[in-house]
Amino acid sequence: MTNKTPPSIIALDGPAASGKSTLGRTLADTLGYLFFDTGIMYRAVTWIALQRDLNLKDEAVITELAQKAQIDIRPPSQNDGRSCDVTIDERDVTWEIRDAEVEANVSVVSAYAGVRKALSEQQRRIGMRGRVVMVGRDIGTVVLPDADLKIYLDASAEERAKRRFDELIARGEKASYDEILRKVIERDRIDSTRAVAPLRPADDAVIVDSDKMNAGQVFAHVMELCR
Ligand code: C5P
Repeated sequence: MTNKTPPSIIALDGPAASGKSTLGRTLADTLGYLFFDTGIMYRAVTWIALQRDLNLKDEAVITELAQKAQIDIRPPSQNDGRSCDVTIDERDVTWEIRDAEVEANVSVVSAYAGVRKALSEQQRRIGMRGRVVMVGRDIGTVVLPDADLKIYLDASAEERAKRRFDELIARGEKASYDEILRKVIERDRIDSTRAVAPLRPADDAVIVDSDKMNAGQVFAHVMELCR
């Protein structure tokens, strides 16, 4: 490393399963920064709504839920592959928010303007403290538009579905590549066509295409950008 100070606020956006979390976590660990995965918050609100059997189509109800939800993110208490503990009213939901049912509904919840306002205000408050790698869909465009470094991590839908498929198989779970691909494409479609804060690279973001790079190569490339 040269003696130049690395960027303090790093925004990392991109579509589903593009490797943002892996890259963000490694980057944050290396720089000694906070790693903040904002998708957790949208997933948590979706999980509570499903748990309470709320009508996901009722924007007012879901917005009120997002405004009141007590979502806690703390350092990992268990060594089971988690990067943090996610708790809602003291219940550990770290893995439950990764469920297929949450995944199938999260894009609907995250398209609501009120939900986005409530959650992005909290994200901004934390991000503005600096020394942070914040991961999401709209960090460089909306949450932290003045971030010092903006990365947009992209990869083809096929490559992302393949990675997700390999991950599930490695964990001993059953998976269908075609089904994963269909869901990845559908989630991207909703995320990038919504009226508020759609998924897109900020004008000043560096676009990193990870189709032909493995996680180590992507990390090395982004560390270069940090220098
Ligand atoms: O990144 P992850 O797949 O966990 O995000 C889950 C969902 O949360 C996304 O598909 C998107 O609908 C929503 N999200 C968002 N804005 C963010 C982070 C996530 O809309 N900043």
